[in-house]
Amino acid sequence: MKWVYMAPDFVPLNEAKVDIRTHGFSYGTLVFEGIRGYWDDESQQVYIFRLKEHFERLTRNGRILKYEMSTTPDGLVEICRELVRKNGYQQDIYVKPIGYKGLPDTLGVTLTQAPDEFLMYTFPLGKFLATDRALKVCVSSWHRVPDNAIPARGKIGGAYINSALAKSDAVAAGFDECIMLTSQGNVAEGSTSNLFLVTGGGLVTPPVTEDILVGITRQTIMEIASTELGLSVTERVVNRSELYMADELFFCGTGAEVAGIGEVDSRRIGSGQIGPITRQLQDLYFQVVHGRLPNYRSWCTPVYE
Ligand code: PMP
Repeated sequence: MKWVYMAPDFVPLNEAKVDIRTHGFSYGTLVFEGIRGYWDDESQQVYIFRLKEHFERLTRNGRILKYEMSTTPDGLVEICRELVRKNGYQQDIYVKPIGYKGLPDTLGVTLTQAPDEFLMYTFPLGKFLATDRALKVCVSSWHRVPDNAIPARGKIGGAYINSALAKSDAVAAGFDECIMLTSQGNVAEGSTSNLFLVTGGGLVTPPVTEDILVGITRQTIMEIASTELGLSVTERVVNRSELYMADELFFCGTGAEVAGIGEVDSRRIGSGQIGPITRQLQDLYFQVVHGRLPNYRSWCTPVYE
């Protein structure tokens, strides 16, 4: 039997039901997180990556929706560990916590007319994007949602319509993924991942003010790139044409991990294969998330005692 958490209880998956009148279901009024746990055979352990940071982000993002998280990030960490233990996973997993607006008192979109509810579930997950070959991507004709429409940094359920439109059209046109621009026409991010350019031997990525989700993997990459590889990391506005001229390009995200890009809008990037710096960062990232580098061990929360 699989278990999920529906605050304040752990319940069997087949008994976990949400009322059809739920505000969050009608309007996408919810904030969520996507978290990965990695199975390490050697230590017989699941390590959940940067777990507390995810719950801190969820708690902060809730403020946009006037959503009050009733449990502290530390409390959520313990609930999450317990949930994974109850399910007994011995493989790579994904954890999805959702803070949502519940049953409203009457019709309306007001954020304060429905109570704040919380649930969390987990399931096995392998690759989300290919990381063993270079991806073919396009620039999407769908712009990223601007901050004064639906804040992209909020990881708000309803905002993922924007990602769904962009990704679906990219896949239907034969691409693996897409790169989204801001409504000003600058480079923002992938449909569900952040983007880095390798140019002049350093990393460049759009700043947090460019309608991106402020990724935890993005921050991880910035840190390990400068500390472990001595690379310069610059956050600045990126024009579309810079994509075509970059030495390397890669996406990063909890789901995406570190995924190299070989082609954008049918223009080859570098050699068309995963670039050498991207490869180094991929290798480092996979070591870090599996708890194999002592300096970053504090980012990996073990599940089993
Ligand atoms: N951008 C978007 C739109 C996303 O949905 C995600 C996945 N959460 C990311 C970037 C990457 O963020 P993170 O590294 O925190 O998973």
